Amino acid sequence: MLYFDHAASTPPDPSVIQTVTEVMQQQFGNASSIHQYGDQAHKLLQRSREVCARALGVKPEEVLFTSGATESNNLAIKGVALRHASRGGHIITSATEHPSVYEACLQLRSEGFEVEVLGVDEQGHISHEQVLNAVRKDTILVSIMQVNNETGRVNPVEAIGALLKSHFPRVLFHVDGVQAFGKLPVQLGSNGIDLFSVSAHKLRGPKGVGLLYIREGVQLTPLISGGGQERGLRGGTENIPLIVGMAKAVRLASEGQKSFAKRCSDYRDRVMQTLEGIQGIHINSGQEAPHIVHFSHEYMKAEVMLHMLEELGVLVSTRSACSSRATEPSRVLLAMGRGEQLASQGIRISFGEEHTVSDIEKLITALKQMSERVKGWEGWNKGR
Ligand code: PMP
Repeated sequence: MLYFDHAASTPPDPSVIQTVTEVMQQQFGNASSIHQYGDQAHKLLQRSREVCARALGVKPEEVLFTSGATESNNLAIKGVALRHASRGGHIITSATEHPSVYEACLQLRSEGFEVEVLGVDEQGHISHEQVLNAVRKDTILVSIMQVNNETGRVNPVEAIGALLKSHFPRVLFHVDGVQAFGKLPVQLGSNGIDLFSVSAHKLRGPKGVGLLYIREGVQLTPLISGGGQERGLRGGTENIPLIVGMAKAVRLASEGQKSFAKRCSDYRDRVMQTLEGIQGIHINSGQEAPHIVHFSHEYMKAEVMLHMLEELGVLVSTRSACSSRATEPSRVLLAMGRGEQLASQGIRISFGEEHTVSDIEKLITALKQMSERVKGWEGWNKGR
C-alpha cells in the first residue's frame, strides 16, 4: 500500500523512534527533580529546546513545548485573549484556519470577544491589505495560517507580519505553521511573527508533542496551571522522550527542507498535470506548498474516490484528517467560493520524505485507472 496522507501524519523517522525508545528506557527521571536523574532529564530538555530554537532561528527561551499544535494554537489564541483583554477584545482570523484555531476563536466569541473572520479569494488566499484594513484600535490578535492543511495554499505571513509590526506594533500576530515548517523556508525572529505553532508528527516525529514559539516579551495567560514547568506557561511533567524525539525530527526537517521542497514540487507538478487531463476534476491547490495536491470531482463522491484508490493500492485523504469524518462540505472550499458539491467532493494527496519517483508513477497510474473506471458515471450520478 502506498501512503499519500502525510499532511495528516507522517511515518516516524527510524532514528526518531530509536531516540524516543532509548530516552524512555534510560532517562525516566523527572526534569524537575534535583538529583542526578532529574538533572539528566533537564539537560535533555534544554538541549532539545536549543536544537528547535536553532532550526527556527530563535532563542531557546522562546520555545515552549506542548502536546501538539492543537494545544499550541489554543495557548497562543486564548493565552493572548485572556492576557490582553483589558486592551481590547477584537481578534482577526481567516475562514480557512485549522479547527484548532477556528474553534478556539469561536469559543472566545461565545465568551464576549469580537472575532472577525476574513474571507479568502478563489485561490484561498488572504492578502496583507485585507488584514491591515481589518485592524482596529481594540485589535489584540491576528491569527493567520501559513500553509493551508487542505489545499496547500500559502498565505503571505511574512508580509502581514512586517506590515503589522510597522503600522500596529501592539497587535500580536500568531501563525499556525504546522504545514509550513520543513516544507517552506521558515526563519522566525525578524519577520513580525510573535507566535508560531509546530507539530512533530507532521515532520516524521512522534504524535502528542509540539511547540509554540513565543517571541521574547510577548505575555500570555497559561491555560494549564501546575508545577511551573515551561516558565510557568504550561504546567505538567515534561515528556522528555517525545520532546527529544521532536527535536531530532525538527532538526532533520530543517536540514532537509530545501531538498524535500524540490523533490516534492516535482511530484506535485506531475500529479497536477495528470489531474488536469482528467475530465470532471477541479484542482483546488496551486504550485505553492510542495507537499499538497487537492482536487474535487464534479460527479464523484470523495469517499468513493478514496476507496477506489485504496483498492488500487493508494491511500489518500478526504479533506483533512481533523474533519474527514464530517459529513458537511469543507469550510475551506466553501470559503474559496466552491459550490456545495465540489466542496463536499474533495480529495487531498500529500507527499513525504520517503516517496520516490516510482511511487509517484504508481499514484499517477492509479489516478488514471480511477478516471477510466468512472467514465460515463456523470449520467449515473445525476440520475440519482
Ligand atoms: N494546524 C494545522 C494546519 C494542522 O494541519 C494540524 C494537524 N491536522 C494541526 C494544526 C493540529 O496539530 P496536532 O495534530 O499536533 O494537534
